[in-house]
Amino acid sequence: MSELWFEPQSEERPLLQALETYLKERVVPTAAERDAAGVFPRELARELGELGVFGLEVPQEYGGLGLPSRTAVQIIERVGWADGSLGLTVASHNSLASGHLLLAGSEEQKARYLPKMASGEWLGAWGLTEPGAGSDAAALKTSAEKVDGGWVLNGSKQFITQGSVAGVYVINARSDPAPEGKPHRGISAFVFPAGTPGLGVGRKEDKLGLRSSDTAQLLLDDLRLPEDALLGERGRAFYTVLRVLDGGRIGIAALSVGIGRAALEFAARYAGERRQFGRPIGRFEGVGFKLAEASSGLEAAWLLTLKAAALKDAGRDYTLAAAQAKLLASEAATRAADEAIQILGGYGYVKDYPVERYWRDVRLMRIGEGTSEIIKLVIAKRVLEKYAG
Ligand SMILES: Cc1cc2nc3c(=O)[nH]c(=O)nc-3n(C[C@H](O)[C@H](O)[C@H](O)COP(=O)(O)OP(=O)(O)OC[C@H]3O[C@@H](n4cnc5c(N)ncnc54)[C@H](O)[C@@H]3O)c2cc1C
Repeated sequence: MSELWFEPQSEERPLLQALETYLKERVVPTAAERDAAGVFPRELARELGELGVFGLEVPQEYGGLGLPSRTAVQIIERVGWADGSLGLTVASHNSLASGHLLLAGSEEQKARYLPKMASGEWLGAWGLTEPGAGSDAAALKTSAEKVDGGWVLNGSKQFITQGSVAGVYVINARSDPAPEGKPHRGISAFVFPAGTPGLGVGRKEDKLGLRSSDTAQLLLDDLRLPEDALLGERGRAFYTVLRVLDGGRIGIAALSVGIGRAALEFAARYAGERRQFGRPIGRFEGVGFKLAEASSGLEAAWLLTLKAAALKDAGRDYTLAAAQAKLLASEAATRAADEAIQILGGYGYVKDYPVERYWRDVRLMRIGEGTSEIIKLVIAKRVLEKYAG
C-alpha cells in the first residue's frame, strides 16, 4: 500500500510509536493529578528530554533530532493529546526560545545553548508580552540600555511559559527609540542563562487550565548582560519575532488538535456506552451530529496544520497557512471540548472524567501566540494583498 502524505510516513513511525507508548504509560494516567496539583513535572520533562522531544527541529550537530516540521507537529499533537500542559511546554520550548535561537543565533550562541536545550536540561522561556503590551507587542517598554561592555535590561514580562523553571531566557526589549510611526523598529533580543543577577521571578499564575505548565511574570531589574547576549541584529528583533510566531502558530494548531482529539475520543466512547431511552446516546441524532461536526472540524484543522508544516519544510512562505491553521484548529478544538462536556451531560461537568480538563486546557489556544482576533487581522491582510492588490 502506498503511503499517504497526511499519515505518518514509514520513517516517522518508530519514533511516533515509541512516544505513544511512553505517553500512554507515563503521562496519561497521571494527567489529572498534575492538573489538580498545578506543579510543573520536572521528572516527566526530563524523560521527554531523553526521547528528544525538546530538540525537535534542532539540527543533529547541536544535539537535536533535526526533524522536519511535519514530524514535529505530529509529536506535539500526541503530547497535547496525552496532557495539554506538557504539550504547551514542548510546543513553546521548541517554537519560541529554540525557534528564535535557530533563526537569529550566532554560531557561538547556538553551540552554547542549543545542545542543553535539545536534551531538556535547559528549558527555554521566551519573553515578548508585558503587562501593558500583549496583542500590541511592539509597544513593549522593557528597556535595553547599551553600556560599556554590554547591556542593562529593566522592565517586566507577563505570562511567560517556563518563566520560573527555564534554564535559558530569550527576552525582547527596546534598545533604540522607534522612528515615528514604526514602533516595531528599535527592538532587540537577548539570550542568557537562568541565574543571571537581576532576573527575578514574580507572580506564578493561577490558571484556568494547563495548570501544570509553568506561567510566571519575569522581573528585570538592572539585569546586566555581556555584548554577546545580543541575539540577532540590534534593533531588528521584531522581524524575527514575527517569524518565531509564525512557527509557534503551527505548534499551537497541532496542540489544539491533540487536545480536541482527546475530547472527541472520550466523548465518542462515552456516547457508545451510555444508554438512555433504551439505546446508546450516540444513536440519537442530537448527539451523533455533535461527534460528526467535532471530528470534521478537527480533521480539517489537522490537514491545514500539515499544509503549514509542509510549506515551512519546503522553505516557502507559511505565514498565512500557519495563521489559518491556528485559527481553525483552536476554534475547532474548543468547540469539540465544549460538545464533549455536553455529550457527557452532568458527568462532563465533574472531575471524575477528563473532559472538563480538556475544555479548560484548550481555551488558551484561542489566546496564546496571537488571539483569534489578531490572527484574523493577519489573515485578512494577506487575503486583501492577494485579491485587492
Ligand atoms: C498561559 C499563557 C501562556 C503564555 N505564554 C507566553 C510566553 O511564553 N511568552 C510571551 O511572550 N507571551 C505569552 N503569553 C501571552 C499571550 O501571548 C497574550 O496573552 C496574548 O498575546 C494576548 O495579549 P493580552 O493578554 O495582553 O490581551 P490584549 O492584547 O489586551 O487583548 C485583549 C482582547 O482585546 C482583543 N484585541 C486587542 N487588539 C485588538 C485588535 N487590534 N483588534 C481586535 N481585537 C483586539 C484581543 O483579541 C483580546 O480579545 C501567554 C499567555 C498565557 C495566558
